[in-house]
Amino acid sequence: MPLRHPYRHHRQNEARRRASPRPRRHGALFDGDDPALRQRLQEIHRRLCTTYGAPFPYFSDRDPLSELVSAMLSHRTRNEDARQAFENLQARFGDWQSLIEAPISAVQAAIAPCTWPEQKAPRLQQVLTEVARRRDGELSLDFLATMAPAEARLWLESIPGIGPKTSAAVLLFSRLRISALPVDSHHHRVAQRLGLIPLELNVGPAHAVLQAQLPDNWGAQSLHDHHEAMMTHGQRCCAWQNPACRRCPLLDLCPHGQQRTGHD
Ligand code: SF4
Repeated sequence: MPLRHPYRHHRQNEARRRASPRPRRHGALFDGDDPALRQRLQEIHRRLCTTYGAPFPYFSDRDPLSELVSAMLSHRTRNEDARQAFENLQARFGDWQSLIEAPISAVQAAIAPCTWPEQKAPRLQQVLTEVARRRDGELSLDFLATMAPAEARLWLESIPGIGPKTSAAVLLFSRLRISALPVDSHHHRVAQRLGLIPLELNVGPAHAVLQAQLPDNWGAQSLHDHHEAMMTHGQRCCAWQNPACRRCPLLDLCPHGQQRTGHD
C-alpha cells in the first residue's frame, strides 16, 4: 500500500494550534518521540550509508573559530569558491584579529569568490568582534569543548548572524567533533520528501526536529555520516528537479517518490 506523507495534516494542525494557542517550542509537534518515525529514519540511514560508502572521512580538522569563518563563507556558495575565499583570507591576513582590524574593502576583495562578499565581509568582522567581546578579548572558540552540545549551540546562535546550520557545522566539522546535525538544502529536501519533517518546515527549525529523531547513543561520526549520506543522496539521486525515484533505494519508504511513480 502506498505510504502517505505522515505530516499531511500539518496545515490543519497548525490552524488548530493557532486557534487555541499554548506555549511550545517551535517544532515541538515533531519531536523524536514517535518510535515508527525513529525506526524509519534508522533504516533510511542504514541504506544510504551502504549505498554511498560510510563512514565518510571528515574534510577538515580546523579549530572551531576557523570553522566558523569557513561556514559563514560557504553560505549559498560552491565548495571550491568558499575554500578559495578562506585560503585568500588566511594568506591576506594571517590571523583573525588582523581580519577584524582590516579595512572592509580588503576583506571584501579577499572573499570575492563567494556569493555576496559585500554582505559577508562586514558580517565576518561583526561576528569575530562579538566573539572577542564575549571572551574578554580572546579570539578562540576552543572553550566550547567543555560545554554540552545544546549549550554550545545556544552560545553560538545567540550571536547575531549565526544560525543553526552554522553552529552545527562549527561543532561537528571542526576538530571539536561535537554531536550536532547540520542540515543543508539537499538534506532538507530529502527529509521533506521522505516525510521525516513537514513539507512546510523551513530549514532553520528543521535542525532541531531532525536531530531529535536521531538515536541518543549516536556519536559525532554517526551524525556526520547521516548528514553526508542525506546530502549525497540529494545531490546524486533526489535532485530538486526530476528526482530519480525509480532507481532510488528508498522508494518503498518514500511517500513523495511513490506518489510520483505510482508505486504500490
Ligand atoms: S523515492 Fe524519489 S523523492 Fe523519495 S527519496 Fe528517493 S529520489 Fe527522493
